Parts: sequence; C-alpha cells; structure tokens
Amino acid sequence: MVIDSHCHLHDPALPDALDTLRVGQSLDVWGVIAVGCDAETNARNLALAAAAPKAVWACLGFHPDQDRLGDADLDAVEQQVAEHHARIVGLGEVGLPWYSLEGKADAAERAARGRARLDRLLALAARYDLAVSLHAPHGAAADALESLQRHRIERAVFHWHKAPPEVTARIVDAGYFVSVTPEVVYRERDRALVEQVSLESLLVESDAPWKYGGEFAGVSSGPWLAARAAEEVAKVKREPLEDVMFRLSTNACRLFHLAWT
Ligand SMILES: [Zn+2]
Repeated sequence: MVIDSHCHLHDPALPDALDTLRVGQSLDVWGVIAVGCDAETNARNLALAAAAPKAVWACLGFHPDQDRLGDADLDAVEQQVAEHHARIVGLGEVGLPWYSLEGKADAAERAARGRARLDRLLALAARYDLAVSLHAPHGAAADALESLQRHRIERAVFHWHKAPPEVTARIVDAGYFVSVTPEVVYRERDRALVEQVSLESLLVESDAPWKYGGEFAGVSSGPWLAARAAEEVAKVKREPLEDVMFRLSTNACRLFHLAWT
C-alpha cells in the first residue's frame, strides 16, 4: 500500500470522490494528499478530509500557473490558511509559474509577480509549520529552492519533478523530496530521476485526474495510478515492491506529519 502524495480529488472529473477513494484502496492506495488550486477547490478538499479523515489529508493551495487567478484569490487563500491551518497538512499546490510564461511579452513581470506570491505563501507555511507541495517545473525549480531556503522551510516536495540533475541534487541535499508520476513508466527523463535520487527522498503521486499516455492512454485517472508509479520505482531500483511501498509511505508520513494508524 502507498500514499498518493498529490491528487486533485476536488476536480469535477472525479465526481464521486468517496468512491474514487474506495477504488484506490482496493488497488493499493490507502490515502491521498488532496491538493487544491484556489479557495473554492480548497474548500472541497477540506470537506472531503472531514468526510474521510483516515483517507484524505488536505492541503490548501494557490496554483501558480493558472492565469485566471489574481491577488484577490491569493488573499482569499491566505485567509483560509489562517482559519484552517490546524486541520491541514500542508500548502499545495503552490509554487512558481512556468508554462503560463511561455511566449508572453511580459514573462519577466509575471515571473516576478509569481515569486512575490510564493513569498507570501511560504511565510504562512513557516508561521504555521506546514509542509509545502510545490509546482516548480524545469527552470522554476532552482528559484523555488532558493525561496524555500530563504524562508527556512523544513518540509517540502517538488511535485511532478522535472529539473536538470544538478538542481535535483541540490534539492535533495537540502532535505526536500521530489515526486514522480505514472510518467515514470514510459518516460526516460523520469526513470533517470529515480535512478539519481535515493529512495529516502522520493514520493509517488497520481496528480489525478491528469490523463497520462503510454499504457495509461484511455485508462481512467485516479489515485490508483500512484501504486503503478511505485511499482515502476521498485523496478528501476531493483528492490522488492513491498519494501519500496513501505519506504514511500513512510516518506509521505514524514513530509506531511501523518500519524501511522
Ligand atoms: Zn497538481
């Protein structure tokens, strides 16, 4: 059994979240870290965590790569964190914009605004001692690492991690986790990442309801895909699946301060 460390359980593509959890549990995923994108999706995750306290742990997030979200949305999320910090296990997903900068004339301004927003969120994570689930792909990863260290954040994961190996090495040396998705089954870049990083610094996630390619084309997306990712991590590491799943679950518990129950 394993924990799905990053799942958008709030998403309308997973209309019956409790049933989604049941299917996940029958397929080796005993719980999910439910990340949000804005105040509305965060509220859904809080409700789901209350409805299934042994299977859902909520994070409150502000997605850095969604153009529709502005400062008023960030204000609302900050207020939500202040109100609910005792009921959540982390902030996520939060991070830095990357994909939304592509081809934009004002990319530098957008990037600066993104860094300022992440600073506000990391200040909250530090104040309430919360783990951080980061969206910081490719060229954003090094900047996000710098922000984490400046705020002295102790617990963080770079979700769906993609960065040059030297940046990954610095992230792991700093004591942070990196997470792989089911893409590890069919993408060489992710397999190389798993080879590079020790099991002590790895997590698996579905990022459901994201639709994957390869063997997953046409397969419905859900937390269960995290178990398939774990299986592939075990293959790449040439270690027994049960040991690897135990290790990955322990890592998620350490990162998000989950109690073993
Ligand atoms: Zn996500």
